[in-house]
Amino acid sequence: MWNRHQNGEVWYTSPLLDSAGVRHLFATRIGGVSEGCFGGWNFAAGVGNVTDSEQNVLANYEIAADKFGLHASDVCRSYQAHTDFVMTVDDTHRGVGTVLPKFPFGVDGLVSATENLLLSVRSADCVPILLYDPVQKVCSAVHAGWRGTVGGIAANAVLEMQKHGCKAADILAAIGPCIGVCCYEVGTEVYDAFLQVDACFASCFVPHGDRYLLDLTRANTLFLTRAGVAEHHIDACGMCTRCDETEWFSHRRMGANRGTMSAFITV
Ligand SMILES: [Zn+2]
Repeated sequence: MWNRHQNGEVWYTSPLLDSAGVRHLFATRIGGVSEGCFGGWNFAAGVGNVTDSEQNVLANYEIAADKFGLHASDVCRSYQAHTDFVMTVDDTHRGVGTVLPKFPFGVDGLVSATENLLLSVRSADCVPILLYDPVQKVCSAVHAGWRGTVGGIAANAVLEMQKHGCKAADILAAIGPCIGVCCYEVGTEVYDAFLQVDACFASCFVPHGDRYLLDLTRANTLFLTRAGVAEHHIDACGMCTRCDETEWFSHRRMGANRGTMSAFITV
């Protein structure tokens, strides 16, 4: 069981990352200032025909950063476009996507060795993954939908961390709340895309009529272990975002008019 925290807002932390002493959180939708389908702790204005205000989103970032003793201007916010691209960010990226303009290109994973630079990736069924190397003190935050997952973005984060001297065997990974295998029905084109990477990914699919149920947590776990991360260094929370409307926004349950959660980590 992951650690559940409540102080105005509700958030979870991974016991594995907690034991390494790295500050991080996976936000639920509970708390914050947003209302309606964005109620209440929402981190994106949205792309449906109803949108939240940028002012509310910024206020929600301020609340999240405050849990770390930081400000929204210390956040670096990925610009998610279902890429498998991971890049290193530093002090020059402080406030990108919150108080400064967003990245002008898709970047779904961030790596940082910069103290008190707070990485943010957002999701509402997709997989948020936080990584940390307690030896080199390097962290990473990744957004992985099925496209990013099959593109190997989790492994790309490990590769980017290795540029900072990290050893894969030292890296810890927390796989956050996402749509579970109970709820994530996909077509044969998704199955085929994974099988083209490696036959081992067949174990992530459960046949479901003429379609499949996909276990994104297992798929990302396989990409991480193939990249050299130890199985006992991977902590998956196993909570399904579609199953629990009290705690999570879910694209499959709510459609485009909905809020978005964020995961945060900093060294
Ligand atoms: Zn479910």
